[in-house]
Amino acid sequence: MSIAIDLTGQTAFITGSTRGIGREVATRLHAAGAKVAIAGRTQATADEVAASLGEGARGFACDVTDPASLRQALAACEAGLGPIDILVNNAGVTRDNLLLRMSEQDWDDVLAANLRGAFIATQAVLKGMMKRRHGRIINVTSVVGIIGNKGQANYAASKAGLIGFTKSVAREYAARGILANCVAPGYIETDMTAALPDAQRAALLETIPLARLGQPADIAGAILFLASDLGAYITGQVLVVDGGMVI
Ligand code: NDP
Repeated sequence: MSIAIDLTGQTAFITGSTRGIGREVATRLHAAGAKVAIAGRTQATADEVAASLGEGARGFACDVTDPASLRQALAACEAGLGPIDILVNNAGVTRDNLLLRMSEQDWDDVLAANLRGAFIATQAVLKGMMKRRHGRIINVTSVVGIIGNKGQANYAASKAGLIGFTKSVAREYAARGILANCVAPGYIETDMTAALPDAQRAALLETIPLARLGQPADIAGAILFLASDLGAYITGQVLVVDGGMVI
């Protein structure tokens, strides 16, 4: 028996898909047949990435910290590509500092992007998913939301919040055919982690049983699985994809 993942006829909206993990997620979902909305803060970049994928991909500009802009992009996607079946809340930022030095602005910015953005987007797509009795919400959290991290109290709080949010959505909408799960990446090589000094990177590597840093494709594979029929009996879970870092 061969198993092929086929998302033909489905539409996916992936926040933060102009770069890094989100871009790879969009690429994989598109390769599996889904129509994909590429979303980032600038239209030109989103259009460029969508054009690189080809037919069935379109770019949408939105700032996830601005609820009106996010709702507008989701509505434009539904008008242009069709009802959203798969929402991946992936856009995220860091504003690291020790707690004693952390400003309220850095706290608010991280919570607004990483947590409130997911709330706004999920709320916006729920009604349509309920009507169609089908939907997949996949939230990109982090191992930091599970074990915490020095210098990342704001980020850890946002990612732990996302886990509680996801479990609540899973309970509220399971009866309507909507599944909600988290993927929790470990250390993945993207722009977000590029600034880490070599010594710190080497020390981190020591803590990873699979002895390599993660790649965006490692996360995209897990998200593709959860978005597909293979994940039909999974809801309210946190799938940790970290090479064994937090076993
Ligand atoms: P990158 O920094 O490489 O990419 C971030 C993406 O989010 C870009 O597409 C960016 O788009 C978009 N984005 C940022 N802020 C906003 C905003 N306000 N509105 C809309 N889009 C925004 O990040 P990664 O790919 O590394 O991370 C993706 C997710 O994975 C994040 O949620 C992150 O917390 C999580 N994660 C990452 C890990 C890692 O090691 N890399 C580990 C654990 C979790 P643009 O700049 O075009 O606007």
